[in-house]
Amino acid sequence: MPRPCSIPEPPGGHPRARWTADGVVTAPGFREAYRQFAAGGWPALGAEPQFGGQRVPRVLVSAVGEFWGSACLAFKLGPMLTHGAVHALELCGSAAQKQQYLPRMVSGEWTGTMVLTEAQAGSDLGQVRTRAVADGGYYRLFGQKIFITWGDHDLTANTLHMVLGRIEGAPPGVKGISLFIVPKVLVNADGSLGARNDVRCLSIERKLGIHASPTCVLAFGERNGAVGDLVGEPGRGLEYMFVMMNSARLSVGSEGYAVGERAFAARDAVGAHARAGQAAGRGRRRPGADHQSPRREAHAAHDEVADRGLACPHPLWCLAV
Ligand SMILES: Cc1cc2nc3c(=O)[nH]c(=O)nc-3n(C[C@H](O)[C@H](O)[C@H](O)COP(=O)(O)OP(=O)(O)OC[C@H]3O[C@@H](n4cnc5c(N)ncnc54)[C@H](O)[C@@H]3O)c2cc1C
Repeated sequence: MPRPCSIPEPPGGHPRARWTADGVVTAPGFREAYRQFAAGGWPALGAEPQFGGQRVPRVLVSAVGEFWGSACLAFKLGPMLTHGAVHALELCGSAAQKQQYLPRMVSGEWTGTMVLTEAQAGSDLGQVRTRAVADGGYYRLFGQKIFITWGDHDLTANTLHMVLGRIEGAPPGVKGISLFIVPKVLVNADGSLGARNDVRCLSIERKLGIHASPTCVLAFGERNGAVGDLVGEPGRGLEYMFVMMNSARLSVGSEGYAVGERAFAARDAVGAHARAGQAAGRGRRRPGADHQSPRREAHAAHDEVADRGLACPHPLWCLAV
């Protein structure tokens, strides 16, 4: 079994990932937390044993992911996307790609991202414009992507971007979209890390919450093109990407429960604090949470979170294995 590790508790305020010209610097505590997380074997949970994984059922991966989400949602998003990228490579990658990339993603040495969205291509991915130009056995990618979760960070030496692009001459719409592995740092034939690839984080998106999760604008091919390795057959990129998207959807679906559980824990802590203050004679009024109506509503909501969250009764959870 993986060993316990501590996921960082936000130290008050709103810790953020920070953009720098050399790359994104993660929020305080995240590097140490990730080191423990990888050393404890947690990234291996859902992966195939031949690549170092434990292949526990998806329902268990989901339940554990919910704990991570309650502990720190921003942190959990990185491993969640790596899990999706691993699963897509297991199902759609070539034998050589699996050997080259999977052991180091499963061990947590490298992370993975899911790179679809462009300014004009959100829900309608048929509008993807990122270009892929054949160059020997590889492709060179040119384009800009937005909203890429954990698109850049300093937790690991490498990140594999799973990128949707359009090979020159491909038909318009979704039938012309292919999937490419674009490493942040190029990997030499002997597996060692080589030069930086032509991919760069231009900025971190400004959003309402999860500030410690770097949601990035990524530029591919500002110089001579980001080197990419085609996954599977040309034109089937969206189909392969759906392995990752469905994995992310299931995981994001449980995040509401994870955050709900966290909110109840916080409410209990606040209630206990207020009651302790009352017992110590510092206040004469009952805490709000102890009044009948809030208590009834809170219990009803808590039952719903507990029933629907960790119990995972919906058959859809099982279909995702
Ligand atoms: C925090 C965060 C993290 C993200 N992480 C990633 C990531 O890791 N990788 C990645 O590639 N992307 C990521 N995304 C992007 C996300 O996938 C897109 O936001 C999503 O695909 C929607 O695209 P859009 O924002 O351009 O909205 P739009 O496509 O412009 O949609 C806006 C609204 O219009 C509605 N709409 C759109 N089309 C239709 C239609 N035909 N009929 C009726 N209604 C319609 C939508 O339902 C929505 O309500 C992330 C986004 C966020 C907010």
